[in-house]
Amino acid sequence: MGSSPKSRQAAILGAPGVRGKRVTTLSKGGLTDFMQSIIFSKQQSREPFYVLDLGAAASLMDKWTRALPMVRPFYAVKCNPDPALLGTLAALGSSFDCASRAEIESVLALGVSPDRIIFANPCKAESHIRYAASVGVNLTTFDSRDEIEKIKKCHPKCALLIRIRVDDVGARCPLGTKFGALPEEVAPLLQAAQSARLLVTGVSFHIGSGDTNSLVYQRGIAAAKTAFDTATRLGMPRMRVLNIGGGFTADMKFNEAASAVKATLQSYFGKETSLTVIAEPGRFFAQSVFTLATNIIGKRVRGDLREYWINDGIYGSMNCILFDHATLTCTPLAFTSNRANPTCWGARTYSSTVFGPTCDALDTVLKGHQLPELQVNDWLVFPNMGAYTMAAGSNFNGFNTSAILIYLAYSSPS
Ligand SMILES: *Cc1c(COP(=O)(O)O)cnc(C)c1O
Repeated sequence: MGSSPKSRQAAILGAPGVRGKRVTTLSKGGLTDFMQSIIFSKQQSREPFYVLDLGAAASLMDKWTRALPMVRPFYAVKCNPDPALLGTLAALGSSFDCASRAEIESVLALGVSPDRIIFANPCKAESHIRYAASVGVNLTTFDSRDEIEKIKKCHPKCALLIRIRVDDVGARCPLGTKFGALPEEVAPLLQAAQSARLLVTGVSFHIGSGDTNSLVYQRGIAAAKTAFDTATRLGMPRMRVLNIGGGFTADMKFNEAASAVKATLQSYFGKETSLTVIAEPGRFFAQSVFTLATNIIGKRVRGDLREYWINDGIYGSMNCILFDHATLTCTPLAFTSNRANPTCWGARTYSSTVFGPTCDALDTVLKGHQLPELQVNDWLVFPNMGAYTMAAGSNFNGFNTSAILIYLAYSSPS
């Protein structure tokens, strides 16, 4: 990747998925001004919109590389498949974790070579496996005998990682009830793969997503080492890939997780000479780079309570409240009520409810949230809206999540 910030910016602006789109350069702290300018130039429609900060994605790649230089990231496409984000990450040198035929297609469409893709879904349809074979995606995961049979039939040259179950039961989205071989299943599965003449090149795990405990990576790496040793004991070719999955967040806990990973890799795999360590971060790269602006389309006053309706909700970007167990926060922007001085709205706040636009009462975004007195046509801005948001939105009631415009920005590193 280009060494100077300027050449890196140029590479991102020219990347497939970004090239040809308008990208606004932001100075430090310029995001709010940029959103204001979009709002003032779009007064007619007042549709919700996203800003995707490609410069922030570049800073996150720096953060990853500084903390975990020995761990190659395969961005988990399901977290947010926006083409500009995928293209930016590809230009920054990331590889990709795809879980379906369509995800593989979208990554290949950016010109990414198939050897930078892992088909990291332990249970795949035969047609998707055949597709992977046809385009040269030759690395996948498994955790059952039936998957071995399908891969033997549809893609016998594919290298395999055995997905083992390593759970952070405290994670917001634990995955262990659905995926991962139990300790006693590892040896029989490795033997089954061997009898099928498939090559198992390593081990993968995923501790779970959201609010994860960094110490669980230690348990995962230790369990992976046991599986490596089991393969050796069974006389199989030496494993050489360790996939530590996702679960990373870009907040304060990242350095803690990185230290835990580094120290544990050193103690369990320090003597391993030709080990490739990979990870599948999704949330780490996607969460903070997207900011969502929504318009207040309705209001009701009941005593001291303020109720607002905005034009995105649970069936749209905010599905993360249900599926990702997310807690959202927002700040008001660009008041019709106080246009002359939009940053000064008085000290008084009210306990407020914020509803989404559909006719379902479940479509409630915030409750008991303190907000100043707002008016219809004011805006609410939600930060950190990139992970598991628009990716799972619907068009229920005619509110189409995939139609929400995404404005591209490039902020200089802070
Ligand atoms: C969802 C998923 C990821 C990404 O998880 P994050 O917590 O967003 O980092 C990575 N790998 C696999 C196999 C997944 O299913």
